[in-house]
Amino acid sequence: MNELIQLSYSALRQKVLNKEVTVQEIVKAYTDQMQKTEKLNAFVTICPDQALKQAQEADQRFQKGEARPLDGFPLAVKDNFCVQGMRTTAGSKILENFVPTYTSTVVQKLVGAGSIVVGKTNMDEFAMGSSTTTSFFGPTVNPWKSKDHASDLIPGGSSGGSSASVAAHSSLGALGSDTGGSIRQPAALCGVVGIKPTYGLCSRYGIIAFASSLDQAGPFARTVEDTALLLREMAGHDSKDSTSLQYQVPDYLKALGKSIRGMKVGIPKEYRPDGLNAEIAHWWDQTILWLKDAGAEVVEISLPYTKYGLPTYYIIAPAEASSNLARYDGVRYGLRVPGGTLDDLYSYTRTAGFGDEVKRRILIGTYVLSAGKYEDYYLRAQRVRQCVTNDFNAAYQKVDVILTPTTANTAFKIGENITDPIAMYLQDVFTVTTNLAGIPGISVPVGLSKEGLPIGMQVLGPMLQEEKLFQFAHIIEQAARFKNLGGHSL
Ligand code: GLN
Repeated sequence: MNELIQLSYSALRQKVLNKEVTVQEIVKAYTDQMQKTEKLNAFVTICPDQALKQAQEADQRFQKGEARPLDGFPLAVKDNFCVQGMRTTAGSKILENFVPTYTSTVVQKLVGAGSIVVGKTNMDEFAMGSSTTTSFFGPTVNPWKSKDHASDLIPGGSSGGSSASVAAHSSLGALGSDTGGSIRQPAALCGVVGIKPTYGLCSRYGIIAFASSLDQAGPFARTVEDTALLLREMAGHDSKDSTSLQYQVPDYLKALGKSIRGMKVGIPKEYRPDGLNAEIAHWWDQTILWLKDAGAEVVEISLPYTKYGLPTYYIIAPAEASSNLARYDGVRYGLRVPGGTLDDLYSYTRTAGFGDEVKRRILIGTYVLSAGKYEDYYLRAQRVRQCVTNDFNAAYQKVDVILTPTTANTAFKIGENITDPIAMYLQDVFTVTTNLAGIPGISVPVGLSKEGLPIGMQVLGPMLQEEKLFQFAHIIEQAARFKNLGGHSL
């Protein structure tokens, strides 16, 4: 593997400043790797020519001593972030040929800081899923392979194209969105770092909406440092998103290397059910030991409403999705399948344009919002959501952060769990409550299973305490010394 695609951003930047390498060479190394790993199907659209042009501009800025904070950072962008002039599909046939006329705020900020978009990544259709197998453009393959068999594995989802590309070194970092776990779960299954920030920290303007009260954008990278760097540049208030917070974004890099001595880590007992995968439990215990060694105090806590997290999420998310997806009607944009009447046009377009999982969610969402059912389902789910939030608020009176596994299993084979939606929904058991409460969570790779597959741990914190998350994640990263080799298959 080319040495350039193994380095962190700060190391690459130093090389450019020392005139040992140019940004154009770095971007070329990444676009070559994109080609070599094409079979993973991590990208829906690639833009090597545009990336090289931007690399030239970045080189000029370096030469003039005017380099920006992320100049030359090769970035992959999940295909639900609008980028002006670049096809944006959300993994759906209904948006197969949709080219936005504007750019999402977070992409604008990252590009403004100098990062170079190398392509748009594959995802579960409209971000609904945990495996990146519901995409209209076919499944993405995890770069990691099991030692026990040769089958292709899922990269997690819905941001599986992003996590796979970072793991395969075909991008240095990537953007994802997390509504119920779609950044943290794929990060864990691909052995990379991924953070879902506090709801409202990053603008949602220009991101194709799934469930608006839960959706949040966040970055992936191979190191905690690169992840912190991306978040620092993409976070911040945006007047175009009414839910975006007025908040002075701190320099997250300053949290790295800070001691955690005397800080308290909560271990929620509800996350250790009988029958928890033994290898996940082992790595959880190991991570607890690392944190104790670093001087943290470990406390058992209880989050009693955890068990209601999934059912609550699977009422609220489809309800909001059914409303958000009403706009794909064949009239304004996207696919149009003409019919004799206006109703026919709607119905033919949506029948042809949406896949099965999206249709299932629309049906569930419409049902729970319908007259007579609204009080029993949607309203009740909103009340339980508040109880989940109260659980976390009470816990954070006692502890600084909470440590849990990110997932209950390692990557499974492509094709598994597809015919059983409930089994697929269970993938999010450790991640959804975070979105319901709006709090941040980061997943860090800690080790490999006996089969040789990555396992991730999740650090959760109170609202807007991303600094603590990076501080702990960095300690874990140092202790784990996880080697991201881009998977055995490469
Ligand atoms: N897997 C969850 C779902 O299918 C979460 C998806 C997400 O976070 N976008 O809804």
